[in-house]
Formats: sequence, structure tokens, C-alpha cells
Amino acid sequence: MSHKCNIIKDILPLYAEDMVSTDTREFVSEHLEHCEACRAELAHMRKPADFIPDAAVVPLKRIKKGLFIKRLQTVFFTAILACAIAAVAFGILTSPKFFPYSDGLFQVIDGPDGSIAITFDNKVTGYSCMKEFDNETETEIYRINAWTTTWDLHSSHRGRQNMVIPSDREPKIRIFYAQNDGSEDVLIYGSNENAEENGVTLPRLILMPYFLFALFALVALAIMRFLLRNKSAVTIWLDRVLLFPISYLAAHLCTKGIRFTTYSSQRDFCIILLVAILFYFALLTGKSLYQAKIAASQKKAEQER
Ligand SMILES: [Zn+2]
Repeated sequence: MSHKCNIIKDILPLYAEDMVSTDTREFVSEHLEHCEACRAELAHMRKPADFIPDAAVVPLKRIKKGLFIKRLQTVFFTAILACAIAAVAFGILTSPKFFPYSDGLFQVIDGPDGSIAITFDNKVTGYSCMKEFDNETETEIYRINAWTTTWDLHSSHRGRQNMVIPSDREPKIRIFYAQNDGSEDVLIYGSNENAEENGVTLPRLILMPYFLFALFALVALAIMRFLLRNKSAVTIWLDRVLLFPISYLAAHLCTKGIRFTTYSSQRDFCIILLVAILFYFALLTGKSLYQAKIAASQKKAEQER
């Protein structure tokens, strides 16, 4: 270090803070250009000042943000899981229990305008009616059923259920009561001229193909996931898609158990789908939380080492 270097060294702190006159700055700059020792001194002086905010403040902000997101995910996960459980309970409590035919279950009354009114007993809280047209005998055939639910048994009564079959045209009408328990439908209005069998209303099996499709999709995706396990860009998406058939299968098992037949297929399918969507988002959030927890515990283990 020369005599000049000692003078520069005295000025450097002010130079670093840009608190020197133009003349001094030129003088120092000129010296720095060809003096490596003073350049190093300046670099050393600047480095800690620049380094401190990076090391302490930015990671702290990042940690705070990470914690906030994690807390938000936990709240979301809990809320959506609660919704899923509520939806499963709702599905089970409101699943229709069909009444077998009995005297006094309903009354069939001919209206003055040719319409037919059916008034159900108080214990009936819901009914549905399917209409078909028999071309051979030119007869309109109605198949009605009546039910209550666990929910309705324990809640305030909805009031008497009535239905009216209008008679705008002049076809022959036959009304059957569908017992929905595998036994024969009961003719409650009109005559069975040809003495045919009344028929049995059979349950729908529509939930079975949906369940099998989800199972097939799950197996296919799992095989794909295995074959493409080294391509992380694809597996990230596959992992997300995989959760949907899992959610659907779980939703079916939670709401219907291992039963695949249903007399109310639309209702059952809507509830399974709703529960499946809730399960899906719960799984997605749960997985992300679980991964964050694993990552955090690994980091901790590394620090302790
Ligand atoms: Zn120097």
C-alpha cells in the first residue's frame, strides 16, 4: 500500500456512500482504476451493507408469506372437509325410503273436469311419477311411488302431498303404484283389459358403469403415472387428475356403500358428484399441506445434522 492508498482509504467510506465532491470522486475513481487493493477495500465495504437485507429481511418475508398461505390452506382444507361430511350426511338422511302399497296410503279422486287427484297420507313426504305411453292399447300409463326420508321423520312436517294428473286429451289412463322393493306394481286406477301382468318397477343400475369407469380411469392413470414417473412436468398433472377418480370412488362408497342399484338415480348421482368434487379439493389441499410438512421436517433434520 502506498501513501496515496492511505489517503484513499480514509475517503472510501464517504465515497462508498456517495458523500464526496465531484473532484474527490474523480480522484478516487481514477486511483481505483489501477489499484486492486483499494478496489477490494471498497468491495468489502459495500458487501456487508448490501448483504444484510438479503440475508435477514427477504427470507423473513418469504417465511411470513409461506406461513400465511399454509394457514389459509389449513382453513380451506378444514372447511371443505366439513362441507363434504355435511354433504354425505345430507345424502344419507334424505335418501328416499319407499312405502310398500297399503290401504290408506293414498286416495284417488276423480275431479269434475276429468282430472285425477291423488292425495297421500300424512306420513308420505315425497313422491315421483313416471309417465309412459303404450302404443298398442293407446293408454297413458303412470307409475307413481311415495317415500319419506330419515330427515323428514325428524323434522317438522311438510304438509300433505297431493298430485293431480290432468286430463287434457281423451286417452285411456292407467295408474300403477310402484312399490320399489322388487314386488309387483299395483294397479290403482283404470282397468287392465288385457289382463296383462302389472309389471315390476326395477331399480336403475346406472351408478355401476360410472363406478367402473372411475375404477378403470384410476387404474389407467396409475399405470401412466408409473410409466412416466421420470417426467416431472407430466407427473404433476397426472397426480392432480388421479385424485378425481379416487374422489368419485370414495364419494360413491361414502354415500351408497357397495350398493349400485337405485330407484332415484338422478338424485344419487348428483349427491355423489357433489361429494366427489368436495373430496377432490380436500385431497388436493391436504396433499399440498402434507408435502409442505414433509419438506419442513426434512429441512429441520438437515439443520440438526
Ligand atoms: Zn490504492
